[in-house]
Amino acid sequence: MPELRKDPVCNRWVLLAPQRATRPNEFAPQSQDRAPHPRGIPAAYPLPEDCPFCEGNESQTPAEIDAIRPAGTAANGPGWSTRVVPNRFPALEGTFTPLTAENVLYQQSPGIGAHEVMIESSAHLTTAREMDDHHFRNLVTVCQRRLLHFKHEGHWTSALWFKNVGPDAGASLAHAHSQLIVLPLLPPVLRDELAGSLSYHHRHGRCVFCDFIEQEQSGGPHQVAAAPAVLAFCPYASRFNYETWIVPRRHESHFEDTSPETLIQLAGVLRSVLVRIESRIGRASYNVILHSSPFDTHKLNHYHWHMEILPRISRSAGFEWGTGLAISTLPPHQAANLLREIQI
Ligand SMILES: [Zn+2]
Ligand SMILES: [Zn+2]
Ligand SMILES: [Zn+2]
Repeated sequence: MPELRKDPVCNRWVLLAPQRATRPNEFAPQSQDRAPHPRGIPAAYPLPEDCPFCEGNESQTPAEIDAIRPAGTAANGPGWSTRVVPNRFPALEGTFTPLTAENVLYQQSPGIGAHEVMIESSAHLTTAREMDDHHFRNLVTVCQRRLLHFKHEGHWTSALWFKNVGPDAGASLAHAHSQLIVLPLLPPVLRDELAGSLSYHHRHGRCVFCDFIEQEQSGGPHQVAAAPAVLAFCPYASRFNYETWIVPRRHESHFEDTSPETLIQLAGVLRSVLVRIESRIGRASYNVILHSSPFDTHKLNHYHWHMEILPRISRSAGFEWGTGLAISTLPPHQAANLLREIQI
């Protein structure tokens, strides 16, 4: 069972999940004596027919929780276009119990929550360029459905949808997939964003994200891609080269409440941004994360759901870990210009 532990200096919860160490990793270094792949694929990558996420291998994953599949096809059989399954090596698991923290110095609590995997295509696709808008529409639709499911359970605090692509972003399998973590607490990054945006709202009477949109949408130098309801731009204080955020142009605090039309546009803009980043930095490793208001809040005037795309070109080292300050080397207006130039 995973365990949550609280650091008493910063009041920061960390997750101890030793069982995650045993999960398979396609990107891990392999021994040199492994036979070369018959199709010339590097030895570190398994044959697609061995991939647990490929159509036909449904028995290699836990039973599906949700799927987009035509009527008449059986659960856990072929025919699907998007599948949601429990993570075989969950970071969090178990039914809800209130967090307990009795010891004054070392506080801990069972690592309850949910950890699901969204398999984004039935074919063995590994990049955004190989995927089409339809894959991304199914993905954001299923993501909204799962968030609504957990919100309606009524006791979880927040959820994080994220996608890891490439070994430097923490991906362990190449087949296009993303993950949903459901938490019994407010994670520090979301807590800080909520507090910071509330403070901005107190001082200026406006949503800080809406102000970004107003600044960037009228031909601002940081714009990367746009649709009538959705905008993508490189943030002024980017932490990573080519960091890009995607936001709904209208003020919306909860992703699960967004309209089907906005979801369709989000899918198109997300694919467009990822293809541009993959084209610009080749064999890209990146994370995509979705930040949305906690489940236990009503509409918030100061917080605005968004996606952050974080390319992993350089590694964090002593300076970044020790100070909490990020270093990027490409000004965001140049990054946006380079991304806009890519022909999709
Ligand atoms: Zn596969
Ligand atoms: Zn807003
Ligand atoms: Zn955020």
